[in-house]
Amino acid sequence: MQTDDVLEWTCQYCGVDNSVWVDLTIEGKQDFVEDCRICCRPNRIIVVRDYDGNVMIEARPIDE
Ligand SMILES: [Zn+2]
Repeated sequence: MQTDDVLEWTCQYCGVDNSVWVDLTIEGKQDFVEDCRICCRPNRIIVVRDYDGNVMIEARPIDE
């Protein structure tokens, strides 16, 4: 079983692609904040792992 991965997310402010290391041993939802590597604005990152092991990543503006 894969225990970690590097996932891509898109900055909600400047549109640049960023990557983040994600611990896949955590079940369910992970919700954290990452700063964009270009504009340095914080994005809220939500990672969800379902029962089949599929991982989805979503970026949202922090003020939402
Ligand atoms: Zn940005």
